[in-house]
Amino acid sequence: MGNYFQPEIETASREELLKIQNEKIVKQVRHVYDNVEYYRNLMDEKGVKPEDIKSVDDIRKLPFLSKADLREAYPYGLLGTDLKDCVRIHSTSGTTGKRVVAFYTQHDIDLWDDCCARAIIAAGGSKEDVVQVCYGFGLFTGGAGLNGGSHKVGCLTLPMSSGNTDRQIQFMMDLNSTILCCTPSYAAYIGESLAEAGYKPSDNKLKAGIFGAEPWTEEMRQNIESSLGIKAYDIYGLTETSGPGVAFECEAQTGMHINEDHFYAEIIDPETGEVLPEGSVGELVFTALDKEAFPLLRYRTRDLCVLTHEKCSCGRNFVKMCKPMGRSDDMMIIRGVNVFPSQIETVLLNEGYTPNYQIIVDRKDNTDTFDINVELTPDQFSDKIADIQKMEKQLEAAMRTMLGIGPKVHICAPKSITRSEGKAVRVIDNRKLH
Ligand code: ADP
Ligand code: ZN
Repeated sequence: MGNYFQPEIETASREELLKIQNEKIVKQVRHVYDNVEYYRNLMDEKGVKPEDIKSVDDIRKLPFLSKADLREAYPYGLLGTDLKDCVRIHSTSGTTGKRVVAFYTQHDIDLWDDCCARAIIAAGGSKEDVVQVCYGFGLFTGGAGLNGGSHKVGCLTLPMSSGNTDRQIQFMMDLNSTILCCTPSYAAYIGESLAEAGYKPSDNKLKAGIFGAEPWTEEMRQNIESSLGIKAYDIYGLTETSGPGVAFECEAQTGMHINEDHFYAEIIDPETGEVLPEGSVGELVFTALDKEAFPLLRYRTRDLCVLTHEKCSCGRNFVKMCKPMGRSDDMMIIRGVNVFPSQIETVLLNEGYTPNYQIIVDRKDNTDTFDINVELTPDQFSDKIADIQKMEKQLEAAMRTMLGIGPKVHICAPKSITRSEGKAVRVIDNRKLH
């Protein structure tokens, strides 16, 4: 049995959770219908009335919301409360286009902080810990979310924000940080920088890391765990649903528990919108059950995922989501073949390379070109052209086996690929297909 921030909820039975969800959804649909004209119009168009929603089973009758709706309704069109009742605004990172803004009442901030506090405790945190938050602070939700959660747990919190890696390392060592929170790509960079500064993984006091905001593979997890000497936990969320903490990993590390007292999750077929049975891969859709200011119902995340209700050894009954396999729009279609950056990362780390890589896709003479720049460590580096060519050929063959098509691999010198302090940019697609 694990540790919980809110044991009564985190260990509630499925029946108890369902009861909470059913009560909340009835109130929430009424709140949205009465206060959000944009969504009321969508419901009216579909012929759904608030009284049609009596339990979470009826959620599938409701219309979807997509990022396009959020952009159309920008900035205030989906607001569920008076602006004067809101205390904060955050915005998406804009990874896939125009940023959208989200609003929070104090109640919304509190429930978000609770979600992050659950994640910190599930990762072994307590008030004894020193939590170094190096997600970006500002409009991005990462810094504020983990900072708020850390305060709720009562940890000593270092609101570092991202960047200035030398200072991160200095404070980590001088102030004995025990839990690190940042993107996995930044964690890998910090690990690399610690080694370069002459530290062994056992020299720091870190015991755990809480990493999210971008896709990362199991291989990346092992890389970070060994370079920092910690256990690395995943955390998931998006600005539209509040921020990080919608789902978090427990010590079992077999998927992330969704905070189901606040968020109802569905998996749908991205083409047809049909709700898929448990275990199917599809697009993750969230309904916020009790957020006031930005109460999105059936929001399509575009993240591809699988849900499972399998019993977890940690004692939580919250449904678990797998690591998102990337956004439906992260998937590249290269010469007709579906390729995810995560597949490339898996091959590289399995073959003993670093997670420093970049994928470049272009179109020449009506054919897609597909190049991967792969950086070597100083140990791997060789000035013999034959050695480099051999590495390139081996990697091209391993990629072809994994992906079904062969990229052109370019081995690059150590430190030649820009490091990420926030979300890594893995793909440069110059094809201008949109
Ligand atoms: P943007 O959509 O502009 O990147 P956000 O900062 O709100 O803005 O990012 C949310 C998105 O980040 C999610 O929809 C998901 O694609 C990705 N994400 C967040 N956490 C994780 C995680 N643990 N694993 C994989 N992807 C994640
Ligand atoms: Zn668990």
